[in-house]
Amino acid sequence: MLKQTFFFVIFLLLFSDSSQAPRDDIPGSRALDNFPLIDGHNDLPFNLYTILQNKIYNFSFDADLSEDPLFGSNCSSCFTDLVRARQGKLGAQFWVAYVSCNPVNYNTTVSRSVEQVDVIRRLIAKYPNDLEFVTTADGIVDAFKEGKIASMIGLEGGHSIDSKMSLLRQYYDMGVRYMTLTHSCNLPWADASPVDDTAPVVNLTEFGKKIVLEMNRLGMMVDLSHVSHGVMVEAIETSKAPVIFSHSSAYSVYAHHRNVQDDVLEKVRENDGVVMVNFYSAFIGQGNVTIDDVVKHINHIANVSGVNHVGIGSDYDGVSSVPKGLEDVSKYPDLFDLLKSSNPDVWTIENLEKLAGRNLHRVFKAVEAVRDQLRAELPDENIIPPEDLENGEEDPGEEDPGEENPGEENPGEENPGEGDGDPQPPEGGSGGAVRVFAHVLSAVVLAAVIISL
Ligand SMILES: [Zn+2]
Repeated sequence: MLKQTFFFVIFLLLFSDSSQAPRDDIPGSRALDNFPLIDGHNDLPFNLYTILQNKIYNFSFDADLSEDPLFGSNCSSCFTDLVRARQGKLGAQFWVAYVSCNPVNYNTTVSRSVEQVDVIRRLIAKYPNDLEFVTTADGIVDAFKEGKIASMIGLEGGHSIDSKMSLLRQYYDMGVRYMTLTHSCNLPWADASPVDDTAPVVNLTEFGKKIVLEMNRLGMMVDLSHVSHGVMVEAIETSKAPVIFSHSSAYSVYAHHRNVQDDVLEKVRENDGVVMVNFYSAFIGQGNVTIDDVVKHINHIANVSGVNHVGIGSDYDGVSSVPKGLEDVSKYPDLFDLLKSSNPDVWTIENLEKLAGRNLHRVFKAVEAVRDQLRAELPDENIIPPEDLENGEEDPGEEDPGEENPGEENPGEENPGEGDGDPQPPEGGSGGAVRVFAHVLSAVVLAAVIISL
């Protein structure tokens, strides 16, 4: 009997044609084998700064760090290593250069932002078999074909350019391929999302619009995560290229100012941009949120903007809590499997490839095409006008308990390297000239107030 059963099974295996299997039997995560999963936002570099002060020679990124004393269970904002990224079929990652926009750091904002770019590039170079430094859309696909995780750089927050076109250009030359216009602080030329709970201050000033256009000219993607609703609208109307939201979810599913409202989702469709869904529990819902809640955000954006305009921007390592079922970078396949099994009509393999990476890849290509069209334009030499600086100084700001990237202003928070001081003392930190410089910069840039935790 056993023998008969055995041969019957062999018979079935031989003569059943797997290509005839219903499409729904194919797991959704198969999409991640076909096209690279491009995650729009991972803050590991901020952890490298806060935990290791960017000293990475003893950092074992190619080990499973889930039990590591520094990057494992003791770290509430650590979700990333290469072992789990490979399990998670991560195909490409925007590693984020971020420093807090806290005004007390203005004298070191630019230098530390450059240091974050440096540590990202050194990390990529340290793991040449796993990571490949990429600055073009096609480079993402090429790295994927070589079995490597395409590694790009995103700059989180316009405070890092100190309102200077020259610095924007230099970041591009260093390899930065998107800039989030703001973090949680209002800038002299753009409002951050917390003003949506109060009132706009400046929206996007004329100088802010020039920054957007200079990004178009350079071929740097305009990232509208973190900006206010008014800035989202004005930036989309200004930009000659599609925009991205590197890590933002849907406001109609969960009303948080960091999420994207439906009227903007409709504009993203017209703009041909992409909204990459953030996994941070505090943006996804209330209470014990799960992978199912993330699916709701993805489905909503797919409904309103269309399946051509949704992507993944996990925010791993920039947040302190993630949904059940998406505990770390190994879990992306579960999300794609769940999307397909729960809604197979919408989430075909073809559409899951769009969600995974084809949409961001299309936007990146379009941004490069606009850059090529603008080749004859000269670099913008404008400097920020005095009236913008006055606007900035009037910014009231506001505390916000539901923000990611806790930053150095939070002693006792999950980024132990930060505490109430800077692990990298500013050079000549006790000098009066530095204090005057810091004071002038503070006055000049604005009296922006700490908004994140
Ligand atoms: Zn962020």
